[in-house]
Amino acid sequence: MSKSLVYDTTLEINMSNLVSNLTYFRSLLSPKTKIMVMVKAFSYGLGTYEVAKLLEENKVDYLGVANIYEGIELRNAGIHLPIMVMKPEIDSFNLMVEFQLTPAIFSIHALNKLMVTLAAEKRYNSKNPYIISIKLDTGMHRLGFDEHEIEELIQDLKQHTNLKIESIFSHLVATDEEKHDEFTQQQIELFNKMADSISKEFNYHMDRHILNSNGIIRFNAAQMDMVRLGIGLYGVSSELASQRKLLSVSSLKSKIAQLKNIKKGETVGYNRNGLATKDLITATIPVGYADGLNRKLGNGNWQMIVNGKKVSTIGNVCMDMVMIDVTNVPCKEGDEVFVFSENNSIAEMAKCIHTIPYEILTAYSPRVKRIFVKK
Ligand SMILES: *Cc1c(COP(=O)(O)O)cnc(C)c1O
Repeated sequence: MSKSLVYDTTLEINMSNLVSNLTYFRSLLSPKTKIMVMVKAFSYGLGTYEVAKLLEENKVDYLGVANIYEGIELRNAGIHLPIMVMKPEIDSFNLMVEFQLTPAIFSIHALNKLMVTLAAEKRYNSKNPYIISIKLDTGMHRLGFDEHEIEELIQDLKQHTNLKIESIFSHLVATDEEKHDEFTQQQIELFNKMADSISKEFNYHMDRHILNSNGIIRFNAAQMDMVRLGIGLYGVSSELASQRKLLSVSSLKSKIAQLKNIKKGETVGYNRNGLATKDLITATIPVGYADGLNRKLGNGNWQMIVNGKKVSTIGNVCMDMVMIDVTNVPCKEGDEVFVFSENNSIAEMAKCIHTIPYEILTAYSPRVKRIFVKK
């Protein structure tokens, strides 16, 4: 009989809350609007396959990943939903085709590479075209066709009768910041203008999509044919009213490995940064920066929750461990510790170290065991 390891540190993902968040976003959309869920970077760090499976069961329309590798992982795990690859490796279009992934074509160079692959494939023709999506740059200035390239793109596409443009999309740069709302509106207008000039040259419908999570909340009128839901599904919104409606999806739990009595004047951890200004009790927690706990959260910059009370870190975060000051909280070795949770959230954690919740979530390493619960 195989023995299973009991992990000290786990990232708990509440699948019921994730579905509830999906339901919330659905309630903001017309029943006709399709939903693509972004599951790139292991579903924002939470675990690609499990989340993708749940989304398939809950009938989302599309999954979005960053690269071909992520798409292949999903296919190998048995996911049948259409999958769009946002930033395809253009030298691996053969794998794109083999695993039936939809490339976001962002340049003439990328389009030419795809055509070389399809020429070798032969099985795609005007009756059985390969499905692609066209990515337009409306202000992000990262990937995508600029307005002046549209004419050339159209001429090329017209020659490639073995392609079908399933959708045209663009990405908004600042849906979470009111001061950029005018720019966001300009992006939406430019997108529609560029998409019009493409679609009028073809005699079939092309879906349009431009909204991310905060876009769905704040620029709802631009939902078009599909939206691309990401961080909101995972329980985070920059907009207060929506944040209240979203349920917390992930929490990082650990256990007290050891308690120590520290005398006034002694120090805790590397480089003696954690000076005891009075007698203290510390607890050592087996989660460190190699697990994804940012080192800037040491030295009192973050509070974990032990037996319902918030307690601060003390000293530097180590690679595999961190110490917290539990002087004022009755606790014992083995007690549960919430590194982050609903009441010490990743949004707060992000603020503490001047970053965004996206980076916090995606930083948790594969070493941290993901546990999927329904409750
Ligand atoms: C990641 C991503 C999204 C989702 O953004 P959120 O802010 O997480 O909702 C949407 N579109 C594209 C192109 C993306 O890369």
